[in-house]
Amino acid sequence: MTVRVSSAAGVLYIVPTPIGNLADMVPRAIEVLQTVDLIAAEDTRHSGKLMQHFQISTPMISYHDFSSEQKAQDLLDRLKAGKNIALISDAGTPLISDPGYRLVSAAREEGINVIPIPGACAAIAALSASGLPSDRFAFEGFPPAKNSARRAFYQALVQDSRTLIFYESPHRIQASLADLLEVFGPERRMVMAREISKTFETFLSGTISSVLAIVEQDPDQQKGEIVLLVAGYQPPEQQEELSPEACRVMSLLLDEKLPVKQAASLAAAITGEKKNRLYDWALTR
Ligand code: SAM
Repeated sequence: MTVRVSSAAGVLYIVPTPIGNLADMVPRAIEVLQTVDLIAAEDTRHSGKLMQHFQISTPMISYHDFSSEQKAQDLLDRLKAGKNIALISDAGTPLISDPGYRLVSAAREEGINVIPIPGACAAIAALSASGLPSDRFAFEGFPPAKNSARRAFYQALVQDSRTLIFYESPHRIQASLADLLEVFGPERRMVMAREISKTFETFLSGTISSVLAIVEQDPDQQKGEIVLLVAGYQPPEQQEELSPEACRVMSLLLDEKLPVKQAASLAAAITGEKKNRLYDWALTR
């Protein structure tokens, strides 16, 4: 494998590291880390263990999104002087909810060759095994931590027809699932992928309400690293066939400012129409 390119400037390699199982480290990533002049790591202490495991003795310096302009400039100067540098984060693919964007963007502007090494990424691993449509998807990173901001963030995606992918912290998982239920409705399909490639890897698949019920009952589901995937919006197949009576009752209840979920429940009880059809109808009204 050729690590160095033939131009005078060095190469900036974007190198993924394992998200759980150390054996997820791809051989090409090991080779690049062993042969570059310098590794720019999100946290040098954290990555030290990985380097030890793979017998990588390349010098490391810390680089993250809060690093000074001077530090980024120093890396660019070294690249321009012909040094090869590998960028790594604590786990997975750098730049994916991880540091590196500023550096890569600046490197490209300077005409420096940037080479990605494909490898572990929690979002892609989760999607590939989720069973949700994978032809079109949107990676949305971490939702905001505060409830109202998180709800608004979800609300903006409610009619997106792509599979939606989020990272979420275990401390917020219950609140975040409750917000998903409130905004997307109880019947929307979802998958919660936890601890991928680790001992307690778990995929919970079902409606939002069924996944929330499991997580509420089982404290173990509130631990570890989590990817949430929500099926994209699908217009109700026979929306026009919703009876005029069901539409009228729903309109009345929504005009009275009832929350969509409550309006759908009441209208279902009154008209005999399915709750999720009424819910979906309300979203497109
Ligand atoms: N750059 C990483 C990647 O390529 O996936 C993501 C870094 S981001 C700071 C960390 C978040 O990714 C975690 O909070 C979790 O949402 C998700 N994540 C990372 N590893 C995971 C795993 N093994 N299982 C499930 N989710 C994971």
